[in-house]
Amino acid sequence: MDVIYTDNNATTKVADEVIQEMLPYFGEMYGNPSSMYTFGDKVGKKIKEARQRVAGLINADPEEIVFTSCGTESDNAAINAALTAFPDKKHIITSVVEHPAILNLCKYLEKKRGYKVTFVPVDKKGRLDMDTLYSSMSKDTAVISIMWANNETGMIFPVEEIAKKAGEKGILFHTDGVQATGKIPIDVKKAGIDMLSLSGHKIHAPKGVGVLYVKKGLKFSPFLIGGHQESGRRGGTENTVSIIGLGKACELARENLSQMNTHVKDLRDYLQNRLLEKIPSCSVNGELESRLPNTLSIGFDAVEGESILMLLDQEGICASSGSACTSGSLDPSHVLMAMDVPYKSAHGTIRFSLSHYNTKEEMDKIVNAMVPIIDRLRQMSPFWKDGKMI
Ligand SMILES: *Cc1c(COP(=O)(O)O)cnc(C)c1O
Repeated sequence: MDVIYTDNNATTKVADEVIQEMLPYFGEMYGNPSSMYTFGDKVGKKIKEARQRVAGLINADPEEIVFTSCGTESDNAAINAALTAFPDKKHIITSVVEHPAILNLCKYLEKKRGYKVTFVPVDKKGRLDMDTLYSSMSKDTAVISIMWANNETGMIFPVEEIAKKAGEKGILFHTDGVQATGKIPIDVKKAGIDMLSLSGHKIHAPKGVGVLYVKKGLKFSPFLIGGHQESGRRGGTENTVSIIGLGKACELARENLSQMNTHVKDLRDYLQNRLLEKIPSCSVNGELESRLPNTLSIGFDAVEGESILMLLDQEGICASSGSACTSGSLDPSHVLMAMDVPYKSAHGTIRFSLSHYNTKEEMDKIVNAMVPIIDRLRQMSPFWKDGKMI
């Protein structure tokens, strides 16, 4: 059975073009990019090209690109650099809906390192509470880290506006751009961002490679201290193969960006509207107009997300649920809880996240599978009676 893959916010298929680009560097081209002889330097030149390609996607200068091992490392390196740059400042601002790479790091800094952290709340539609954000900025604030787009709901946050306010107050601004890159246009210069994280495996490159954009002139302390690689900003011999793949993926992402807002968005809207039309008592999480074009987070009253996923799996359909399954608990995710989504529909939330590889035929198959699945689960649900939730 062919798999219908709609979990692209979790990870993506490595593009065939990316695999082709990487293959020689798995094999005969194994030189160390730092070596003086031509055999190594050829790899060095290819990394240089990758750096230019990544920079091109986000309108950065190539020297502003630091390759890392993943999005999580980029996030950690950014916060570490900001706190090291301002050793006397003990306050951090972030949001309650961040990815664990920022959220758990900030909780750690608060509990174990004595930092004060403001976790900015969101409203029922998933929008940031801008008043709390702005009023919590102070002379003691070292860094503000707000994700560009949320991985669960696809909500896009006004990072340009926040970056501007932060800049006026001399506060560093970092954004986790892992979900935004490749899905919406990103211009770090125009947005006035100090640091931005991205991750290879969310944009059709392999797992285990990421990027931290660091604005020119920013006092940057490395998170991994070692050799001179990445101009001393990240020690360790480069993950040459994956970096080369990421470069190609960024080039493709740039070419495919317009498709995201036409083909992919159309598919997402089609899937959303069909589900809303055919299944009673379900609702979309997040403000419709401010979402990534590929993401649909939708809650079905009175059923369990995990049960839906299991039944979808039997049809070869891959999606995600809205519960914190990663932590082994069945509680709704921190994002849905923060949005105050009613417990009984948060529990039945499914996230479909699409890519340009998806087709309309697949969307129809998903709808055709979902209708009987929800019906069947509701017949067994203690919270469902006479066609509605009790
Ligand atoms: C996936 C993801 C990360 C983590 O990236 P990894 O490369 O898997 O470490 C960070 N932030 C967001 C928003 C993500 O979706």
